[in-house]
Amino acid sequence: MASPKARARNIYTKLETVYGKPAWDDGKPPVDELISTILSQNTNDANRDKAYHALRARFPRWEDALAAPVAEIVAAIRPAGLGPQKGPRIRSVLHTIKEARGRIELEFLRAYPPDAARAWLRELPGVGPKTAAIVMLFALGMPAFPVDTHVHRVTGRLGLRPERMTADAAHDHLAGLFDPDQYASAHLNLIRLGREVCHARKPDCPRCALCRMCPFFRTRSASQGQAPNGRVPTERKP
Ligand code: SF4
Repeated sequence: MASPKARARNIYTKLETVYGKPAWDDGKPPVDELISTILSQNTNDANRDKAYHALRARFPRWEDALAAPVAEIVAAIRPAGLGPQKGPRIRSVLHTIKEARGRIELEFLRAYPPDAARAWLRELPGVGPKTAAIVMLFALGMPAFPVDTHVHRVTGRLGLRPERMTADAAHDHLAGLFDPDQYASAHLNLIRLGREVCHARKPDCPRCALCRMCPFFRTRSASQGQAPNGRVPTERKP
């Protein structure tokens, strides 16, 4: 059995072979990435982006959003859903940054060591390990491995983490398995695999490029009498 790090590298390589190196919008300033990540909760990427662009169009400067009644933020972000929760949260994050720094920007974090940047972000209201890791990885260019629901589920099935490990704990665990220069690609391609193939309720294992390296699939195949390539074996003639 290959070491966990070797398995992670094989999975990263296989995913890039199948899906390619994913592109991502790395042009957002860190505050914008943070707000966009808050907007992404419980919605899809298209609605998140619609809400983000509507918010930026309504408030070209974050200071303007902070000065406005929260109802205006809620109205602008309607496409993302959960406006009554996300609106006050966005305002509270903007307020906390302004109070701490005198202006609303997070560029100063670039000069921090990664652990200090993560700790600073985690102090912001409602910012958990996933949001902090996304801002670090995609906006600050710092090593961090974000774990969303897809990454958590797929890495559990692939045996890249202990079965009962929580998503919060999986951030550091997976960061230790992949190399930092693999984080963004592995994170995005695992999400794609989770969305397109390794569905929560009914993973489409026979269509999965990773089925030969997946313990979940091996166990399921053994219990159903399937061949490890995902096909039900044909009966041998006597
Ligand atoms: S083989 Fe099945 S369970 Fe394993 S990663 Fe692929 S879809 Fe998910």
